[in-house]
Amino acid sequence: MSRAYNFCAGPATLPESVLVQARDEMLDWRGTGMSVMEMSHRGDAFVEIAETAEKDVRELAGISDDYAVLFMQGGASSQFSTIPLNLLGDKTSADYVNTGIWSTKAIAEARRYGNVNVVASSEGNGFTSIPDQASWQTSADAAYLHYTPNETIGGLEFDFVPDSAGVPLVADMSSTMLSRPVDVSKFGLIYAGAQKNIGPSGLVVVIIRKDLLGKARKETPTMMNYQVIADNGSMYNTPATYSWYLAGLVFKWLKAQGGVKAMGEINRRKAEKLYGFIDANEFYVNPIDPRSRSWMNIPFILRDEALNNAFLEGANARGLLNLAGHRSVGGMRASIYNAMPEAGVDSLIQYMTEFAKERG
Ligand code: PMP
Repeated sequence: MSRAYNFCAGPATLPESVLVQARDEMLDWRGTGMSVMEMSHRGDAFVEIAETAEKDVRELAGISDDYAVLFMQGGASSQFSTIPLNLLGDKTSADYVNTGIWSTKAIAEARRYGNVNVVASSEGNGFTSIPDQASWQTSADAAYLHYTPNETIGGLEFDFVPDSAGVPLVADMSSTMLSRPVDVSKFGLIYAGAQKNIGPSGLVVVIIRKDLLGKARKETPTMMNYQVIADNGSMYNTPATYSWYLAGLVFKWLKAQGGVKAMGEINRRKAEKLYGFIDANEFYVNPIDPRSRSWMNIPFILRDEALNNAFLEGANARGLLNLAGHRSVGGMRASIYNAMPEAGVDSLIQYMTEFAKERG
């Protein structure tokens, strides 16, 4: 059996060597006589796995002791409510930037708990550019400023970190975490659903500045209270042990690739190759402002959309899978996270070249 190139936006392709290691360790993790899935989360073996994963992600992302790293559950979407419940504190409102479908969902959920000021939106141009920060209507009294550095569906990525003027900056890094260097010290809170660059779905990694702990509203469910989760080393209840273990294997793999800086260079190269090809070939179009094009999710449309099915069928036949765009936007989308090898991008370009020649 050979592995396909899987361009799915998430759950996404994982490094093959990680899957091989997980397979090899499946029945007997290092002489314990059991799989990681079967271990007590309080036992020495799992505690070591958990602590090593945290240490490695701290090292990879440059996370200081001023921050707690939490391994929570419920995916990134659960954070859409966890964040306002914990961070609104005695304030009445929070600022949100709307750059696409994921920001929109975060905004809708936050509105259940307080006033949301949408300080800027690119909805007017179909979410194809990032609103210039000079035009944002932020408030000094906001509890926090939330944005989505990479819109996974639209393929729109910030090429700068907003200046939040002292208001805690909150970022949904689900589809960009660990894909390029980021200065964590600029953020109050970063969260990322795992299923793109970290590991299996369901797990969500939260990096929170410690001074933001302890502000949860009293009706906050215990399982959503950052202080409780931090005080208990993310083991207030039974954590997603196997996902945590796999995340740890991915972190080791990323370190072996040279870390986030080296990975960022590879990601830049992969993205530039694909955008370069799309821009040079009149059969394909990417609608995003070139300054704000995502390195991770590259949407494109065929000039003749009647050929969409033929394109996807031909791609599938070559083992280039999951290229259909999100159901809400159509077209195509190639997600090329850390674990997508450059050879996968090359194969895709080769196929796109041939398809355009035959059908163009
Ligand atoms: N935010 C972003 C930017 C995402 O890409 C996704 C998932 N694709 C989510 C939030 C939701 O993640 P989950 O399905 O883990 O709740």
